[in-house]
Amino acid sequence: MTLIVGVRYLVVSGAFAWATRVVRPGLYAGLDPQIRREIGWSLASAAIYGVPAGIVAWGWQARGWTRIYTHIGALPLWWWPVSVLLYLFAHDTWFYWTHRWMHRPRPFRLAHAVHHASRPPTAWAAMSFHPIEALTGAVVIPALVFLIPIHTAALALVLAIMTFMGVTNHMGWEIFPRGLVHGRLGDWLITASHHQRHHDQYRCNYGLYFRFWDRLCGTDRGLGALDRATGPGADAARFGSAAGRS
Ligand SMILES: [Zn+2]
Ligand SMILES: [Zn+2]
Repeated sequence: MTLIVGVRYLVVSGAFAWATRVVRPGLYAGLDPQIRREIGWSLASAAIYGVPAGIVAWGWQARGWTRIYTHIGALPLWWWPVSVLLYLFAHDTWFYWTHRWMHRPRPFRLAHAVHHASRPPTAWAAMSFHPIEALTGAVVIPALVFLIPIHTAALALVLAIMTFMGVTNHMGWEIFPRGLVHGRLGDWLITASHHQRHHDQYRCNYGLYFRFWDRLCGTDRGLGALDRATGPGADAARFGSAAGRS
């Protein structure tokens, strides 16, 4: 499982880092030492993520643990999309509150500072966590499969969304159309512009997938500036300002 998580990280982050080079040339210029640290922390996180995932996968196969089901007709069809949304919402809730806790001074110094050392983050920062933070993230889905019934393909979709959003939210540019990011859906969904503001300002925009908890708790400060300008010139200017800040 550690190998699967590690290879998945390298393939997906690598693909989006390559895409960044193509569509936003120069965006990661000068960030090589930071990227090396991001990859190191991420591979350590992959090792940690693999342990509970491996135990649960073995228990599911060999012992019949978990509420994962393989026959799609085992539960009503409407449960399939509902289970995906429930998993995402539960994960988002756990992430929001543990993330807020990690912004308290001691946990921040001890664990979360590693993630915020990415200034600005890149596609390689998706799993760039201190082992303590990686552990808090690694237990979520393995715990949920004991509580909420889910079809194998629905679980695969949840993991795919988790991986995709983890990478794209950090890569420094918007992959989603403007109409979505600035439209009604974007009022409730978190994309790169929203999470970038967390990395810029620290004490806001704590959520993972949805803006629900941020809005409810008054910690939502809207979208960051990354998608205001496009093109290599604008990117160079943005990178310059980001470098100036750090
Ligand atoms: Zn982040
Ligand atoms: Zn944070």
